[in-house]
This record gives sequence, C-alpha cells and structure tokens, in this order.
Amino acid sequence: MDYWQIENVRVLLVEDNPIDARTVREVLSEARGAMDVRHGLFTVTRVERLEPALELLVAERFGVVLLDLRLPDSDGLETLAQIRSAAGNTPIVVLAGVDDDRLALAAIQQGAQDFLAKGRLESSLLRRTIRHAVERKRGEVQLRRHTREVELAHAHIEKQAQELKRRTEQLDRINRELDDFAYIASHDLKEPLRGISAYCEMLLEDYGLKLDDGGQHKLETLVNLCNRLETLISDLLTYCRVGGPTPAETGIDLNAVTDEVLDTLRPAIDYRNATVRVVDHLPTVTGDPTLIGMAISNLVSNGIKFNDNDRPVVEIGCLPTSPPTIFVRDDGIGIAEKHHEAIFTIFRRLHTRKEYDGSGAGLTIVRKIVESHGGRVWLESERGSGSTLYLTLEPSEAPSDTLAETAAEIPTEEIATPVESAKKGPHWMSQPAAERATRR
Ligand code: ADP
Repeated sequence: MDYWQIENVRVLLVEDNPIDARTVREVLSEARGAMDVRHGLFTVTRVERLEPALELLVAERFGVVLLDLRLPDSDGLETLAQIRSAAGNTPIVVLAGVDDDRLALAAIQQGAQDFLAKGRLESSLLRRTIRHAVERKRGEVQLRRHTREVELAHAHIEKQAQELKRRTEQLDRINRELDDFAYIASHDLKEPLRGISAYCEMLLEDYGLKLDDGGQHKLETLVNLCNRLETLISDLLTYCRVGGPTPAETGIDLNAVTDEVLDTLRPAIDYRNATVRVVDHLPTVTGDPTLIGMAISNLVSNGIKFNDNDRPVVEIGCLPTSPPTIFVRDDGIGIAEKHHEAIFTIFRRLHTRKEYDGSGAGLTIVRKIVESHGGRVWLESERGSGSTLYLTLEPSEAPSDTLAETAAEIPTEEIATPVESAKKGPHWMSQPAAERATRR
C-alpha cells in the first residue's frame, strides 16, 4: 500500500501527555465517524517517548508523525532533529502547547511540515493539517527527486559533451596525422616517379626505334601510367593541403572570385562551346579566396566535362538561405541517386578515363574545402537530366549586398532534398533562368 495515501493514514503520535493524546485520538476518531472518500481513515499508534518513536520509524512506515516536542527523554528542537533523521520522507506535524508557538515556528524552519496548537485541536482542522502536511511533503519529495534527476541528466550530458569534445579532438589529431602522412608519402613518391618517367621517355627517344611495335607500345603505356600516377599523387597532395584551418579572410566577393575562375577556365569553356553564366548576384563570404575559387572551378569544369551536349550550359547562382547557398547547375549527363555519396570518395569515378578524363579527387577536395570553411556540400541530380551541386559558405560579418537582406529567410535545411526535388520533375532550367541570366 502506498503509505502516502490519504484515505488510510498511519499516524505515529509521539505524545507523553495522556490527556492530549486522548484528545488527538478523539478528534481523529470523529474524523472516522465523519469518514467519507475525501477524509479517509486514521490508524493511530502512540508512543510516549522519543526512543521508541525512533525505533518505530525505522521499523515501520507511517503516513505522518504528530509530534509533541516536549518528551520525557528529549526536549524542543532536539526532539525534532532526532525524529527528522529517522522519519525520512514522512511528514512531521508539531503539536505545540499554547506557549510553544515560537518553538513551533522554529520547528517549521527546521523541516517540520506544520504545527498545531493543542488547545485548538478539532476534527476538520487536524484532518486538513495532516492532509496538507502529507501533500506538502509529497511535493517536496517529488521536487527533490526531479531536481536530482535533472542534476543527473545534466551531469550525464556534461560528461557526454566532454567525451564528444575529447573524441573530436582525437579525430582532428588523427586526421591531421593522416593528412601529414599522406602528404609526406606522396611527396616522397613524387621524386622517384619523376625519375622513372624521365628514364622511360629517354628510353623511348634513344632506343625507341630499336624496339618492335609491341615494345614501343609497352614503353608508351609505361610513360602514360607514370603520368597518371603523377596526377594522382598531385591530387592527393592537393587534398592533404586543403585540410588545415583556413585563414578567415572576410569580405570575399564571390562575384570577383567567380570571374577569375571563369577567366582561367576560358580555354576549356571555349573548347567545349560551353556557356557559363552567373545568374544571381553572389554574396560576400568569409574564408580563403584561393580555396573557394578552387572549389567553384572544380564544380564548373565538372559541369562542362560530364556533359554530352554540343553546347553545354552551366549556371552559377545563389539561394537566399542563411547561410547563403551557392549552386552550380549543369545540363549534363546527371548522376544516379545511388552514386550521390560515393562520388565524394577520393579517386572514386563513375566512368573510365576514355569516356571522361579525370582522377576522381575533385569533389572530395571540394567537400574538404567547404567543410573546412564550416559549410556543407550536396547535390541534386538524376541520370540524364543534369546536376546541381550546392555548397554553403559563411557570409561576411558585414554583408554588403542585397542578398544579405533576404539571407535570413530560408534556413538551408528547407532546400529540397534530392529525392524531394526529383519528384517535382527535372529541375534543369525550370526557373526563368534565361531572364535572370541577363542580369549579369
Ligand atoms: P573527376 O572529375 O576527376 O572524375 P570528381 O571527384 O570531380 O572527379 O567527380 C567524381 C565523379 O563524380 C566523376 O567521375 C563523375 O562520374 C561524377 N560527377 C562529378 N560531377 C559531375 C557532374 N556535374 N555531372 C555528372 N557527373 C559528375
């Protein structure tokens, strides 16, 4: 049985005065006479001294203690202190003599739930006092329990946060070590490889004519493989280099960065008869302009490269999210959804080099650059219907253009996921891109 239940309260009456004790019993049995669901029953156990009261409190459970502070073997607040230490969560109501009011008040301050002047004992008052004392104590206990639970939860979260911090630091360190290792290894590999390559070329030049067609072909293949390995090593070196903390330059105008990128890519753009246009005013961001340029350059050249159209079209734009989302959209061959994650793995390619040239490091480098700037990269694409690569970058503290006014409007999470937008149909040029293209 729940000993808090008010319907049947076990009362421990600690009272040496037989007249007062009888009064309490009578008052409580009046309550029994008038018992209804609200008031319930009281079972009274009486002791006259502190000692047996302490023993009983340890051995049994009571709903309330009615306590006279003046007992033959203890007096005043000391009586309360002793009873409290044995009572645990059982509420204590002090029965005060008329001249004990001050003492009774002090008792409340020291943990008694209530006090009653003996001279004014009557049924409904006593019942109500007991009930309130029980309820108050219950509230106190619950509050303590909740506080403890909150403290425990807080301590747990704190511990987890510390653990997370420790692991993050550990991971950062391991990543740095891996980068260092890969960098040194690649760097050291480059020298002998150059030697092999140079010797192969010399062999071809000096002794090529002495070899038959098969021998010449094998030597040429060896040169090609050396070149290929050199490209892979260079890409690996680039990948390792872009990982470190970025110098946080503010006020980088992405329009200027993109202009420079497009100037550099001009020969490749013209060679493919491609059109690359900036369809929005781009924001001003924080980061390393060279690395950000490298990321944009990678995306634009992919848009032209993985494109079988006679006249590929690539658009660079910006969505008014917070932080701003830059996108590079092409009308190329597209990427099946199942490859969307894999293409960010270093050296992972979906085609042979005969079909489309490359090493498979570009997007991995893009992701590393963007993440080291605190942003993220993702894409929307379907096989055969173009691709849009998105990336977020931290805006500059003092935004300088109109985009900043709208930048807080759409959180980046609200940009459609690839699956959602795929359901909406092909996204390529679905907006009045041609009109917007003239803005520039
Ligand atoms: P690379 O361009 O050297 O192959 P990336 O890391 O840039 O390496 O790209 C990895 C792979 O992702 C590419 O081989 C290609 O299959 C696919 N890919 C990347 N960008 C595009 C794109 N815009 N359109 C279609 N496929 C793409």
